[in-house]
Amino acid sequence: MPELPEVEVVRLGLHNHAVGRTFGSVSVRHPRAVRRHLPGAADLAGALAGSRIAAARRRGKYLWLDLTRTPGGESASAPEDVALVIHLGMSGQMLVCDPGAPDEVHLRVRAELDDGRELRFVDQRTFGGWFLDDYVVDPAQQAAEPGAAQLIPSTISHIGPDPFDPHFDPDRVVAVWRSRHTEIKRALLDQNVVSGVGNIYADEALWRSKIHGARMTDELSRPKLRGLLDAASEVMAQALEQGGTSFDRLYVNVNGQSGYFERSLNAYGREGQPCRRCGRIMRREQFMNRSSFSCPKCQVRPRGI
Ligand SMILES: [Zn+2]
Repeated sequence: MPELPEVEVVRLGLHNHAVGRTFGSVSVRHPRAVRRHLPGAADLAGALAGSRIAAARRRGKYLWLDLTRTPGGESASAPEDVALVIHLGMSGQMLVCDPGAPDEVHLRVRAELDDGRELRFVDQRTFGGWFLDDYVVDPAQQAAEPGAAQLIPSTISHIGPDPFDPHFDPDRVVAVWRSRHTEIKRALLDQNVVSGVGNIYADEALWRSKIHGARMTDELSRPKLRGLLDAASEVMAQALEQGGTSFDRLYVNVNGQSGYFERSLNAYGREGQPCRRCGRIMRREQFMNRSSFSCPKCQVRPRGI
C-alpha cells in the first residue's frame, strides 16, 4: 500500500495538473472501482460531471478532491457537500493524459476535464477506487483551534493528523502512546493517533531510533518516543524529496512499492544484509501478519518474545 510520501506525490501531481479543472463526462470501466460509492456508477458519473476540482487534499495516506459547482465559471464558491475520495489501494494510479493516449490495460475510470485532457484511474489489482463522501467538521483541526470549522470527508475524519499537518501535535501523540500498553510498532501503524506511517517507514523509523517494534509503549521514555516520531517524519520527508524530484510532468503516478526510495532504505527488505550502522546481519520477523525488518544488535528484542 502506498504510504504518505507516495500519496503526497500523487496529491502534488493532481494539484499541479487537475485542480481548477471541471469534470466533463465520466465513464466507469470496471464496477469494482466504484463499489464504495453505494448509489452506483451512473450516480457518481452524474454528480462529477460539471463539478470543478477546487483542491487536492491529503491526510496521512488518504487522498481526496474538494469539489465545487460553478455554473458561472471560475467564481469561487463554498465547497459542495461532497468530496471525491480516492483510494489508491495496492496499485492505484491517477494519470492526467491527452485524450488520444491509448487506454491502459487496467483503466478503471476515465474522466474528461475541461482543458481537453483526461483524468484516468488505473488499478491493476482493483483494491482501490473512487467514491463521493459527505463532509463533517474536522475534529483534529477543532481540537487544535476551537471554533474553526474546516471540513473533511466523514470517512477520513477519524484519521489522526500526519507529521506534515499544521495541526500535528507530537506531544499529544507521545502522551496517547504512553497511556497505552501496546507494541510500539502497532501504535505507529494505528492511523487514528498519527497517520501516514505504514510498514516500510515504521521499520525505518524504528531502526533509526534503535527500538524493537515489540517494545511496549508505556515502557518507553518520552524522549525516546518523541525521537521515534521525529525519525518517522525525517524518513518520510526524505522519501518525499526523492519522489518529488523526478516528478514534473503530465503524469501522476504511484506504484505502491516506494520504488524510488528503495535504495535508501536501511531496514525494510534488508533481511540477511549487514546493518548499515553496526554490520550485524539484519533479521526478518512476522508482526501483524507482515514482515518486520530490524537489526538484532541495534534493536534488542524485549524479553519473553
Ligand atoms: Zn545494527
